[in-house]
Amino acid sequence: MQEKGAISIHTENIFPIIKKFLYSDHEIFLRELVSNAIDATQKLVSLASMGEYNGDLGDTKVSVSFNKEAKTITVSDNGIGMTGEEIKKYINQIAFSGATEFVEKYKDKDPEDLIGHFGLGFYSSFMVSEKVRIITKSYKDETEAVEWVCDGSTEYEILPAVRKERGTDIILHVAEDSEEFLDSLRLRGILKKYCKFLPHEVALENEVISNPKPLWTQSPSELTDEDYLKFYKELYPEAPEDPLFWIHLNVDYPFNLTGVLYFPKVKNDLVPSKEKIQLYSRQVFITDEVKEIVPEFLMLLHGVIDSPDIPLNVSRSYLQSDSNVKKINNYITKKVAEKLQALFKEDRKAYEEKWDNIGLFVKFGMISEDKFYDRASKAALLTDIDNKKYTFEEYKELTSANQTDKEERLIWLYASDVDKQHTYINSAQKLSYNILQFDGVLDSHFINRLEQKVEKLSIRRVDAETADKLIDKDEKRESILSEEESNKAKEIFEKIAGIHTVEAAPLPTDELPVTVTFPEFIRRMQEVAQTSGFGRYMGDAPNQYNVTVNTNHALIAKILKEEDETQREQLAKQALDLAMLSQNMLNGKDLSSFIERSISMVM
Ligand code: ADP
Repeated sequence: MQEKGAISIHTENIFPIIKKFLYSDHEIFLRELVSNAIDATQKLVSLASMGEYNGDLGDTKVSVSFNKEAKTITVSDNGIGMTGEEIKKYINQIAFSGATEFVEKYKDKDPEDLIGHFGLGFYSSFMVSEKVRIITKSYKDETEAVEWVCDGSTEYEILPAVRKERGTDIILHVAEDSEEFLDSLRLRGILKKYCKFLPHEVALENEVISNPKPLWTQSPSELTDEDYLKFYKELYPEAPEDPLFWIHLNVDYPFNLTGVLYFPKVKNDLVPSKEKIQLYSRQVFITDEVKEIVPEFLMLLHGVIDSPDIPLNVSRSYLQSDSNVKKINNYITKKVAEKLQALFKEDRKAYEEKWDNIGLFVKFGMISEDKFYDRASKAALLTDIDNKKYTFEEYKELTSANQTDKEERLIWLYASDVDKQHTYINSAQKLSYNILQFDGVLDSHFINRLEQKVEKLSIRRVDAETADKLIDKDEKRESILSEEESNKAKEIFEKIAGIHTVEAAPLPTDELPVTVTFPEFIRRMQEVAQTSGFGRYMGDAPNQYNVTVNTNHALIAKILKEEDETQREQLAKQALDLAMLSQNMLNGKDLSSFIERSISMVM
């Protein structure tokens, strides 16, 4: 058999276009060729198992080799091979039509839009070659070996060839601008990246560098914890720490997906780690940019997802609307929530110990996905300032008797900084209120979420009001000062409080004479403005706070009695400064004058 022909496509300049679009991703030619070789091997194994091939399977290894002098890279397999007719059908027609379609589809698109993997297959070899040869012999009896040669134009040639055994060699004559690939470290790196878990052995220059039976393809019942930890190291040789726990994924309906997801220790920040989730399709590495396939909060996890049902040859925006991707998303989210619940039920103590390392992740999920909130809320924990942990239900139970206000609203209190808010915590604890600790980067969002989801719940920071009013139970406290005296006290403080609102109220005698508080609503608005970048519009404005004058405190009575006006103002300033000091808010000029005044008072 010897013939020449023209590949039947309309686009004469197909290769320059392929080259241009794939510029940054040239290395995938090797993934494509090795995958084809593996497919051909797999097909032969299947035929043998069905009794349709009776010869000796022999060595099923796929070998990659290169020759620096001859400037060639060769990918060899002992798979099913091709007859001359099959070459014409699969390489000339089908493969080229795939390439034409690709060019048609993407020629007007921004290269940034391309994921970089679209199954261009065999023809991606022309990204790095000036000439490609295929030498192949079919597994079928009495077929001749053939050679196909093409120099990247639309002309090809088919010749008889010498090859005794079944299988295929793809020989790339590497182009001048791609000689970087004639290097064993480079080739090894590419194979390690894309081919490390292919289902048959892959060798570079006789060294096997793949593990054909990676952990996620095995049955969970046959695996030990050590196996999972060992595989984690295999995936991420440089990971600083072992993961906390993991889930093994395995579904075949309505989509096909296997994998294993590891839960790392998540620190109190959301800086993405180097260990990312890796996406495979039938054990071929595709990418570790899985943003469109996995819900955002799950990106904090590590591990492998393998699914032939994730479309790889489409744009990012399309992926998000793909129904399989949505189902996969849902499935993983559900599995993760189930795992959390199972761990919680199994061993609460161990789970509580892990909470500090997974809480951030769980909260992130509960904030960003409603379904995850519902599923995970039974295993989510609240931590109080004594580091005791409660489920939502337990905490409701704990607080409902003493922390329900006159409108039947449940009020939960929290501190964001136990040291700074110490005075307020003290006052609230005198009323037997429990105080949660919310000091994480996501907690202000998490608080909003809880208020949306838990009926009749309000959450307040301990310094949002004076302790008496944090939870308004409509209890009246007697005031030692008369109404007229209270008003007078209020006036005195209004003079020195500037823009801040002053109120006179009867508080317990052992509370501070003056208290400053930060109304919850205004404070949250300011926090949102700061984190969303509008801070610079509000940044210079002083924090809005309220001043409460305790009409039951002896110092206020003393201030009222003071007849010398300057003296009276000094005392009032001192009381207000003490309030500011207890919030750690006294600084600069105000702090200096407070110190000077204090010295002259004690003298
Ligand atoms: P795809 O792999 O997506 O089908 P390719 O362009 O990579 O597209 O390959 C086209 C066809 O050529 C394959 O479907 C297969 O039938 C055949 N082929 C490619 N490489 C080999 C090989 N090493 N051994 C046998 N057949 C092959």
